[in-house]
Amino acid sequence: MNVFDLEKLNRKYECKSPKEIIQFMINKLGRGKIVLASSLSIEDQVLTKAILDIDKKARIFFLDTGRHYQETYDLLALTMDKYDFKYEVYTPQNRELQELVSNYGPNLFYKSTGLRKKCCYVRKIEPLKRVLSAADGWICGLRKEQSAARNEIDIFEWDEIYGIYKINPLAYWKEEDVWKYIHKENIPYNKLYDSGFTSIGCQPCTRAVTNGEDVRSGRWWWESHENKECGLHRA
Ligand code: SF4
Repeated sequence: MNVFDLEKLNRKYECKSPKEIIQFMINKLGRGKIVLASSLSIEDQVLTKAILDIDKKARIFFLDTGRHYQETYDLLALTMDKYDFKYEVYTPQNRELQELVSNYGPNLFYKSTGLRKKCCYVRKIEPLKRVLSAADGWICGLRKEQSAARNEIDIFEWDEIYGIYKINPLAYWKEEDVWKYIHKENIPYNKLYDSGFTSIGCQPCTRAVTNGEDVRSGRWWWESHENKECGLHRA
C-alpha cells in the first residue's frame, strides 16, 4: 500500500540527482527491499554506478533470457569486474522454457504477437515476478523522452501490477544527458550503441535504427507500433 504523497515527492525531487533519489528510497524502504532492474542499457549503467556509490552490496538484477547479444554478456562481465560486485541473475524456469521451445520452436516470436508475448512472459515476466515478489520498490531506467507512453511516467510511482514502488530517477533526463554522464564517469556501455542501436533487448528481437527513427523502433520491428512493450513496463 502506498503511504507517500507521490505528487509532493515528485515535485520535491524533480531536480535532484539519481543518487539523492535512490538514497531517499533506500532510507525509506530498507536496503534489502529495493532492487535495481538492469538490462545493461546506458540508463541502467548510470543507475548501477549511482546505487553502487551508495552501497556496494546493493541489489541489482539482470534477467538472462538466454537470447541476448554476446555484446550484452560481455558488458555484464565487464561491469561486474569494473565495480567488483555481483548481479542477481534470474533465468526462466526450465520446464516452462522447455515446453515453450518444444511446442512452438526457437523462433516463435516471428509467428504472431501472441507467441512473442508468450516468449517474453516465460523468459522475462515470470522471472521478474519472482524478483519483485520479495521487494518493496524497484528502480528503473525509464525516461519520459523514450516514447509517447513513457512521457506519462514520473520519478516516484506506485506500481499497481506488482504492488510496490517504482522509481525512475532518470525520468527527466534527455538522451544527451545520459551520454554525457557515461563519458564523464567512464562508465562501460554496450558497444552495439556504436553501431546504430538505440534500445537493446534480445538478439532476435532487436535491430539497429536509422537517424530520425523512434528510439524503440528497433525492438520487435515486424510488429505494429502499439505492441512495442514486452510487459515489463506498462509504459
Ligand atoms: S524479446 Fe524476443 S527473445 Fe526476448 S523474451 Fe521477448 S520474444 Fe523472447
